Amino acid sequence: MADVSFDGLTVTLEEVQDNPAKYARELERAKKSPGYAVCRCKSGPGGTPLRLVIRRYGALFHLARWPEEGYLHDPATCPFHALPTNDQHEGEESFEAICQTPDGLNVRLDTSLSVRTVGVVIDRERREIAPNTVSRRSAPLLGFLQRIWIEARLHEWTGAARSWGTCNAQIVAALGVGKLNGKSMQDVLYVMRRYEPTEKAAIAAEFDAFLSRIKTSEGTSERGLLIAELNAVEPSKYGFVIKVRQTHHSFFASKAVIDQVTASFRSAWTLIGVPHARVVALLVLERTKDGNLRVIDIALQLCNSSFIPCDSSYEVAMANRLVAERRRFKKPMRLVPGDDTLPDFQLTDTATPTVIEVYGMHDNAQYLARKTQKQALYARAATPCVEWIPPADVRSVRLLVAAT
Ligand SMILES: [Zn+2]
Repeated sequence: MADVSFDGLTVTLEEVQDNPAKYARELERAKKSPGYAVCRCKSGPGGTPLRLVIRRYGALFHLARWPEEGYLHDPATCPFHALPTNDQHEGEESFEAICQTPDGLNVRLDTSLSVRTVGVVIDRERREIAPNTVSRRSAPLLGFLQRIWIEARLHEWTGAARSWGTCNAQIVAALGVGKLNGKSMQDVLYVMRRYEPTEKAAIAAEFDAFLSRIKTSEGTSERGLLIAELNAVEPSKYGFVIKVRQTHHSFFASKAVIDQVTASFRSAWTLIGVPHARVVALLVLERTKDGNLRVIDIALQLCNSSFIPCDSSYEVAMANRLVAERRRFKKPMRLVPGDDTLPDFQLTDTATPTVIEVYGMHDNAQYLARKTQKQALYARAATPCVEWIPPADVRSVRLLVAAT
């Protein structure tokens, strides 16, 4: 991972991301003057420093990519690298559900964040759209969570250690001061902070401020979104209790919600609380009439022990092996539903990128057809491909040696 400089200091990006409170004062000073931090992964055109945006997030500061300069950063090692995109410019309107803007992501979710709870339920965020106009698309919860992972480059592994603190910093940087269903992203979405004993009070105050904005009053319910790592889901007298890591707060969920989660996210559900895997959740929270917080919808993303997204327990095992062996790789993630030809993993440290396929479901005809299709595709393109067919031991799979 790259080094970054601000206020006369040069430290690793990882150090700043894991200890945001420790560097708050220096980052605040650099935000005032010169108004940016510097990424040391490469130098910019003509040897100029590569600037990073310093963004305030509650009491803390986070580093983010400078608008339209992502392509200048080192693609192999720097999380601020990004290919030039069709960025949304001021005044332009996009019909995409999720788009990048210079300030961060602008998102339209298919979940309402303000709901009338009496009378006819009207989706207030959609009411003003006249018939026959082209309306903007909206993203489902899982699509949004996966897009966040891509924008934060958390689906790539470059070898630097990654804690929840790193994930928090990269997600917050990717979201920026964007918009979610027309509201301020920072008001309606909270990315759970890593628990730090020395910052206990500040973290609790920040989380409480977010939770206090979730309220039901005078016939309106204001909801909130939370991104956190799941710890446990336990049955209770009134349904279920959802526990997330880094906090003692827990949330209620009805049996109907949990039934839907177990059906939709089977692989992730079965690995909640298992030591070698992690399950990240995007929760939609609502305040009940008696003041409790309940989860009304959830999307789950199964990850390996380093927060690399995985589609199955076999993929978790493979990703954990690749991390342990210090390989560089990525988990290609589909942005378009139905795109089933993406490889399970791609090694990026071999001379030619090598595809890794984990063929786990022997008894599913559709899956077997796709496997044949993928094998033909790789053969035609002469793509180096490594296959693992469980239950063979994951350690028995022979990987190509890294070129760098
Ligand atoms: Zn960089």
